Amino acid sequence: GKLESRYFYTDSQIAEAFIKPRSKFANKGHFGHALMMAGSYGMIGAAVLSTRACLRSGVGKITVYAPECGYAILQTAIPEAMCLTDANKAFLETLPKLDNYQAIGIGCGIGTAPKTAGLIEEVLKQVKVPIVIDADALNIIASDKKLLALLPKGAVLTPHPKEFQRLIGKKWENDYEKLALLEDFAVSHQCIVCLKGAFTAVALPDGTIHFNSTGNAGMAKGGSGDVLTGMILALLAQGYKPEEAALLGVYEHGLAGDRAAQLKGTTAMIASDIIESIRF
Ligand code: AMP
Ligand code: MG
Repeated sequence: GKLESRYFYTDSQIAEAFIKPRSKFANKGHFGHALMMAGSYGMIGAAVLSTRACLRSGVGKITVYAPECGYAILQTAIPEAMCLTDANKAFLETLPKLDNYQAIGIGCGIGTAPKTAGLIEEVLKQVKVPIVIDADALNIIASDKKLLALLPKGAVLTPHPKEFQRLIGKKWENDYEKLALLEDFAVSHQCIVCLKGAFTAVALPDGTIHFNSTGNAGMAKGGSGDVLTGMILALLAQGYKPEEAALLGVYEHGLAGDRAAQLKGTTAMIASDIIESIRF
């Protein structure tokens, strides 16, 4: 009906209700094995941040797939993660085996090399598990209508406003139009779109839009978005439904940012501080 709002607000009560308790008898096999496809020459930091954030969000195991130049960096920075490398030194090119993973994250710091675009196409065609798509993976998809049509149902997309504009191929005149375009995209592609910023708007395939209550301007810095991708990947790997993973991930990411701001201040805090402030 017309009187029913399709806008919602994710507060602590709503978010915390999603959290699944960890069983006393749990082992790491219960929390999934995530695959994070990230990084390129000069942007291995994005792979480090997203992978560390994933580990801090309850994943059982994570393998990070990065170009060869990232190997020593990743193995040193994140001893908890396994590292698989592409034979290409500088950017991702070759599709790894996608079996054995419960969820896939892709895009952080990958760049837009044509061969990386070929890899994205293969991933979209072959993926059978929940996926979170961010950053240059979104830019690559935005640049090719054929890739846009391959978006898997239930995929979680995490664009910032520029990336979302590229995805829809147009600019909005005002916030109402922006939200209408957001809803339209989520419904027509049957995916979940987290349009990032203050009060991140999460659009679901049913056309509802959920505004997030946490976060602050100290998060307006390079690397913050990579942290979110890792957190959502962890939740997907643990079996949270894509809608839940998006809503809870966005909420906890903002909350971690708010804790980091308390500790460091909004000017001084950096993405690594957000990771260190994740608490589940
Ligand atoms: P990215 O642009 O990909 O690095 O993502 C930035 C992240 O920081 C997103 O999760 C945003 O929601 C968050 N962020 C950026 N600016 C703000 C802000 N002013 N208030 C709250 N969150 C923000
Ligand atoms: Mg980003």
